[in-house]
Amino acid sequence: MENKRLYTPSRVKELLNAHGFSFTKALGQNFLIDGNVVRSIVQGAGITKEDRVLEIGPGIGTLTEELALTGKSVLAVELDEKLRPILQESLRPYDNVDIIYGDALKLDLKEEWEKRYGKDPVHVVANLPYYVTTPILGALFDLDLPLESLTVMVQKEVAKRMAASPGTKDYGALSLFIAFHSEASLVAKVPNTVFIPRPKVDSAVVYMKVKESPLNISKEKFSLIVKAAFSKRRKTLLNAFSSYGFPLDKNDVREILRKSGIEETRRAETLSLEDFLVLTINFPDDLI
Ligand code: SAM
Repeated sequence: MENKRLYTPSRVKELLNAHGFSFTKALGQNFLIDGNVVRSIVQGAGITKEDRVLEIGPGIGTLTEELALTGKSVLAVELDEKLRPILQESLRPYDNVDIIYGDALKLDLKEEWEKRYGKDPVHVVANLPYYVTTPILGALFDLDLPLESLTVMVQKEVAKRMAASPGTKDYGALSLFIAFHSEASLVAKVPNTVFIPRPKVDSAVVYMKVKESPLNISKEKFSLIVKAAFSKRRKTLLNAFSSYGFPLDKNDVREILRKSGIEETRRAETLSLEDFLVLTINFPDDLI
């Protein structure tokens, strides 16, 4: 019944009051109270009855409930122990939900997943705690599991950077990190009015379809080249790389750029993922 669903503001308030719950701002606790947004996240993720979902930060279980109704199963990881009694009550009707209490950045999520679901593909769906958005994305991409997609709600400004194309003002190290692992797109913009408490900024949902990591390319070396290139965003690549502190002089850098087919007067923000991959191959390995 619509009025019993967890996303209705009255149900959220009822649960929070009944358990005397107080929000912990430092944990990024902004809970969804809008059914349309909850449904659009799950639809944007393309979840079907075949799919098993990993959710980070279920809160009181609003998104978890929709995932349980749409997907095959949900494994959710929640740091705040105070939510345990609420989740026990709110998700009681769903026998395909499993909740682990702990820090998503510290738990061995590979082990937790495999002991339940073996090698079944992973679809991450989450309204992420904003204070740890990038570390959590980094940890998820590093999981040695068959990760198929990630659909996350993040701050709008971060979402724009995640899905940005070369040549735009939002394009930078985060866009390239995401592009290294996936094809990303913005699924929905979400106003701050659909949460309690209301965050200061608006949010957006990003869908990432995971792709094979580029073969034989070290992610660490790729990240270092990207960081060096964007260290002087307004300067030419020749300048940025020559002054970054690599054990290379200007002529070495000139030669690497030439070999990579990239003009030395270009700026980092004009380079595609493929350009950065070629540079990663052509820079020497002993850069630090
Ligand atoms: N999914 C719920 C919703 O949409 O209403 C809550 C989302 S709220 C933005 C983020 C949730 O992540 C909170 O419940 C918070 O306690 C939890 N959280 C914060 N840091 C975490 C961490 N390191 N590991 C796991 N959960 C975390």
